[in-house]
Amino acid sequence: MRLTNVHGLSLPLAVWLLHDEYDYIDEPNYISATSLLKSTRQLVLSRRVNHEEREVDISAFLASSMGTAIHDSIEKAWTKSGRWAMKKLGYPDHIAENICVNPSEEQLLANTALIPVWMEQRAFRDITVNGVTYKIGGKFDLVLQGRLFDAKSTSVFAYLLGRKDQDYALQGGIYRWLNPELITDEHIFIQFIFTDWQKARARGDADYPQTKAIEYPVLMPSLEETERFIRNKLTEIQKYANSPDEEIPYCTDKELWRGETVYKYYSDPSKTSGRSTKNFDDKSEAHAFMASKGGKGIVVAVAGEVKACEWCPAFNACKQKDQYFVS
Ligand code: SF4
Repeated sequence: MRLTNVHGLSLPLAVWLLHDEYDYIDEPNYISATSLLKSTRQLVLSRRVNHEEREVDISAFLASSMGTAIHDSIEKAWTKSGRWAMKKLGYPDHIAENICVNPSEEQLLANTALIPVWMEQRAFRDITVNGVTYKIGGKFDLVLQGRLFDAKSTSVFAYLLGRKDQDYALQGGIYRWLNPELITDEHIFIQFIFTDWQKARARGDADYPQTKAIEYPVLMPSLEETERFIRNKLTEIQKYANSPDEEIPYCTDKELWRGETVYKYYSDPSKTSGRSTKNFDDKSEAHAFMASKGGKGIVVAVAGEVKACEWCPAFNACKQKDQYFVS
């Protein structure tokens, strides 16, 4: 991978952004839980890219580095001061004293009152599809008393749109499929930490999150539904593994992280290249506005911007992206 620093990020930050302790697995038939959530096009075409030749700007690592920093910090807090903090929060001694992060078999046998806090545990499971055996793996954030918790740093807008709810459900479902004995609750408890939360907005809007961090439970698919999803995804990957680009299904708007369509009303239909008179998120509102002007003017639908391609490892091999990026 060739790196650029087009925004001139400082050396202290650049070093932080390149630091990566993730224990990647490089096996031909290994697929991670989070990879399974990606589009088939991305999964198939990224295998045709020579990643050594990919050019990536270090600013692309900002979001993931912030996410990793939050995860590491939560893990450190539980490991170093979980018991102390629980006592401070009012939990009785017999509970706080028995909290143990990632206990060994011996610790569990020696103390039946122990309350395990499972953190960052990686699990594997084999699955055979059409005669090919794949190894599925994934590392969850935290499991406590059968409940799966997953921290996500994101914008308030992304949370309010709720577009990723299905991905969260599937991600949790795959972790449960990998760890059915540890994860027994039906929900994944997303721990949102908002990167752009504004106190002033919270005061005036009851629908806006009232704190910078909230818990958001999402119902996971059943174990059977999850396995069906995994099998279907692997079947699709097999089907298109050697197909030409044109035959691989296109990424959907959701997979492209496409922004919302904006409906632009122009009072003069002959001047749609300039600034619009008024913009609407809702098509019917735009047309109602035009009707209120005696039907004069025009409403132009402008599709939202595509964001996923910029971060996609299949970028160099994908022809669909040429529709959105002019080189
Ligand atoms: S580059 Fe864009 S269109 Fe192509 S696979 Fe990636 S996300 Fe999909």
